[in-house]
Amino acid sequence: MNTSTETTVNEQTLSLPVMEYFYTLQGEGFHQGKAAYFIRLAGCDVGCVWCDVKESWDVSKHPLKSISHLVDQVKQTPARIVVITGGEPLMHDLTLLTSALQESGFQTHIETSGAYPLSGNWNWICLSPKKFKAPLPELINKADELKVVIYHKSDFDWAEKYAALVNPTCKLYLQPEWDKAAEVTPQIIDYIKANPQWQLSLQIHKYINVP
Ligand code: SF4
Repeated sequence: MNTSTETTVNEQTLSLPVMEYFYTLQGEGFHQGKAAYFIRLAGCDVGCVWCDVKESWDVSKHPLKSISHLVDQVKQTPARIVVITGGEPLMHDLTLLTSALQESGFQTHIETSGAYPLSGNWNWICLSPKKFKAPLPELINKADELKVVIYHKSDFDWAEKYAALVNPTCKLYLQPEWDKAAEVTPQIIDYIKANPQWQLSLQIHKYINVP
């Protein structure tokens, strides 16, 4: 959702507020370690207390970029995968962006809290639900990957609540919250050993110092 009441329909459909875009390695989850072009859209009202991209929240602080410009930027790299992240990217209508990327031969991946209706065409949906704003049921059963950030040991029960709702083929990941990693990673390891349907996701981009 764009908070500016002056934004035109044309801008809403052909341009999106973008905080940053860059070519790197996917650091998390099922596609961890693969080269991917990231487009980080601005805007989020989910309000995670431990959010590591709070500067993305205020959509008015980030410029609108045209979809054609974004696709052109991706084309300048050998990327095959484009990850749309945020912020909460589904605050925006992503139909045209994903169509343009797929028409250019790119695989479209999204990382979302699931708090807003799904738009766009996706080759991979990573649902990372947050306690602060519940995901919509329509998102839960479309997820290819469920990635739950563990901040406190009570989060394991919360993760199981969503694991029971996703599609049976959905991959299940537990990821330590970065600032709590020293405390919760050993708990996650023990939990996965006892519950091997889950896998560990580490934010490897933070260990190898890439964006
Ligand atoms: S959903 Fe993502 S961007 Fe939004 S507050 Fe939570 S961690 Fe930050």
